Amino acid sequence: MPPTVYATWVPSPQHRYGDHPESPARLRGLADLREAHDGTIWLEAPLAPIETITRAHHPNYVAYLQQIVRHGPAVIDYAPTYVTPTSFDDARRAAGGVLAVLDAVLQNESARGFAWIRPPGHHATRTQAMGFCLFNNIAIAAHEALARGIAPIAIVDFDAHHGNGTQNIFWHEERVGFVSTHQEDIYPGTGDFDEAEHARGRILNLPLPARTDDEGYARVFDQVIGPWMERWQPALILVSAGFDAHWRDPLTQLGLSARGFAALAQRLVQWANAWARGRIVFALEGGYDPLAVAASGRAVWAVLHERPLPEDPLGPAPMKGPDVADRILYARRLHHLG
Ligand SMILES: [Zn+2]
Repeated sequence: MPPTVYATWVPSPQHRYGDHPESPARLRGLADLREAHDGTIWLEAPLAPIETITRAHHPNYVAYLQQIVRHGPAVIDYAPTYVTPTSFDDARRAAGGVLAVLDAVLQNESARGFAWIRPPGHHATRTQAMGFCLFNNIAIAAHEALARGIAPIAIVDFDAHHGNGTQNIFWHEERVGFVSTHQEDIYPGTGDFDEAEHARGRILNLPLPARTDDEGYARVFDQVIGPWMERWQPALILVSAGFDAHWRDPLTQLGLSARGFAALAQRLVQWANAWARGRIVFALEGGYDPLAVAASGRAVWAVLHERPLPEDPLGPAPMKGPDVADRILYARRLHHLG
């Protein structure tokens, strides 16, 4: 029996701002997933309760966001992050989408899920919106799982940018391990190997050089994240699934392909099966080339459904990526992974 896949769809069509890359068009190439009779159980995405959001965000920030959207459309930070009059509810519904999938995955054996949501979340800190992100969806879900006694939790963030907001929210939370792979020296400028000095072995930042490709990523996952998972033994894996590490993404310079994302998802699912009774929830973060998001999203979707990978219309990166052996060695030493 293949596992049951739970999903939500929150495209937030009114959360848009001129030609800003974080737009509803990002999800357009995946809309037909909802029409496929592939056994997916599609869940309604309710507005996340305020008291659930405030486990991850300061109440003053939540109140500020509720108030500022009334003045939208407006830009509220330099990324630029924008709001429209619907954005407060859109952000609540995005968080609610991840919570709905989480709830289904925790209540059912052999279940996994993907929340197709926007706005994204992983740059939003406890007290501020950043990097196109309003509420930190994955952090809100992790807090909900903690409140239900699920621990320890592993959050893996393979978005091309550092998950600074998630790191911020769990900076002192010993029950949550956080791993972020990201392109070095791009927005938001954080995520250096040794910046979370107090949390060696729990917060793993893995900055990668431009053009790191499928092979480089697979090595990092096999030689750093795999051994870490084995030690961390998570009861739940949450994934900040950004597809902007695809080689076509207009905002970054990494080298993953749709097949490469599928290979990472395959490993994550294996680790969830090994340590977390199969419990894994993916939530969409970035990804700004709609064709790359569609190809990568479909590939990961096939992995979750344990079906053969679809054709990849975009293929691998045109250039081979750099060697990442030195990064792997450094990270393994830093976090005492042998
Ligand atoms: Zn990103």
